Amino acid sequence: MARWTALILLLAAAAPAQTVKLRVGNSTRELGLEQYVAGVLAGESSVFQSREALKAMAVAARTYAVRLRGRHKSEGYDFCATTHCQHVDFDAVTSRLVDVVGETAGELLWFQGKPAFACYTRDCGGRTEDAGSVWPDLAAPYLKSHEDPYCAGAAWQWSADPIKVIEALRRAGLRAPARLNQIAIVERTGSRRARTLSLDSVRIDASAFRFAVGRELGWNLVRSDAYEVHGLAFNGRGSGHGVGLCQLGADRMGRPYRDILAFYYPGTSVGLTATGLSWTRLGGEGISLMTTRPNEDRVVLEVAERMAGSSPLPRVQGIEIRIYPDLDTFRNATGEPGWVAARTDGRRIQMQPASVLRSRGVLESTIRHELLHVTIEAQAVQGLPAWFREGLAGYLEHPIRTGAPTRPSDADLRQRVDPEKARRAYRDATRAVTSLVERQGEGVVLGWLRTGLPPIVR
Ligand SMILES: [Zn+2]
Ligand SMILES: [Zn+2]
Repeated sequence: MARWTALILLLAAAAPAQTVKLRVGNSTRELGLEQYVAGVLAGESSVFQSREALKAMAVAARTYAVRLRGRHKSEGYDFCATTHCQHVDFDAVTSRLVDVVGETAGELLWFQGKPAFACYTRDCGGRTEDAGSVWPDLAAPYLKSHEDPYCAGAAWQWSADPIKVIEALRRAGLRAPARLNQIAIVERTGSRRARTLSLDSVRIDASAFRFAVGRELGWNLVRSDAYEVHGLAFNGRGSGHGVGLCQLGADRMGRPYRDILAFYYPGTSVGLTATGLSWTRLGGEGISLMTTRPNEDRVVLEVAERMAGSSPLPRVQGIEIRIYPDLDTFRNATGEPGWVAARTDGRRIQMQPASVLRSRGVLESTIRHELLHVTIEAQAVQGLPAWFREGLAGYLEHPIRTGAPTRPSDADLRQRVDPEKARRAYRDATRAVTSLVERQGEGVVLGWLRTGLPPIVR
């Protein structure tokens, strides 16, 4: 979907916008954090029934990404697209998942002023695992083992074939007995999961065993370390390492996403910033406002409602205006540089803090400009060039009658490197549409929104 932006020449802050360098197959692509989170939801949580559980997962996946960004730095990217980091599947992203990501946009899980290590597991089998038992460096007060009454973890069984197990261990570079008659658990973690196994006389780390079997024989055999073993027969519960958010339990809990996160990461807080700012929704059917400072920002809703009533274009319902609490959260959520005041995607307008825009005298003009984009996009036929859409918004906001009507290129309108060049392109577009209106009349030019540009103009 095309995006539309209003420009202000703020000095861009030093920190770059939050993007993620992702390795997919043999190529690396850079994408916005929120786009990455949608891909992770599709890859890791596509079977979820509960929308609130999906929102909890969105916060966990986003926090995981912010906390662990650069884990593949030495290879030239941030994350791989497999379960080693987080499994990403862009082909499976649905509008539902995009909405879920949007509803929690920018929200992170915080602990003592820093993004938490928000790991998650398929199914803890009824008791989560202590992070310190799996990754000693990552032990944390919010990742202690506790009961999970919500996932009645499905049981699994596996009868190990001794010859295949020995082969799998050898291929994985692990020590293996010459012959295998019986496997026993010789040491357990605090949550009663296997920590160390003995394979006849050979001792082996239980998770190394699980990974070797998984990689060589299939991941659905030894699904977790929560099992009993007699001879070569495994009886287990759950799936995955068991640390952090249990996806099955979260999906079945039936509670709001903040409660889900509080249950699996006790002692953390959810918010856009470490101080725990969270969204409040104001308004109704026509225009709603998402804000972290409802008292301060209520005026934006009033201004927007007044403007929407006075537009020459038909009214659009279901508009959402989202005001970020500071420049960083705006940049993180939109990927736009600091000199962009606001951005519109379909019916959602995302804005910098009202106080920032007001102090530069562009609050009302920004709201008007973005509302015009919403109404223009609701009508525009496919293939209408960007200069016309942008110029029409500019003209309806404030016609420019002086200078030569030069049409800017779409590339100049879209680039985010040079703010002065962008400003010039916006002015050129406005001037070009103003000149069309002067020659053809406003009604005719507005009509082209639905019919497309006539050949003489194209
Ligand atoms: Zn990875
Ligand atoms: Zn569970």
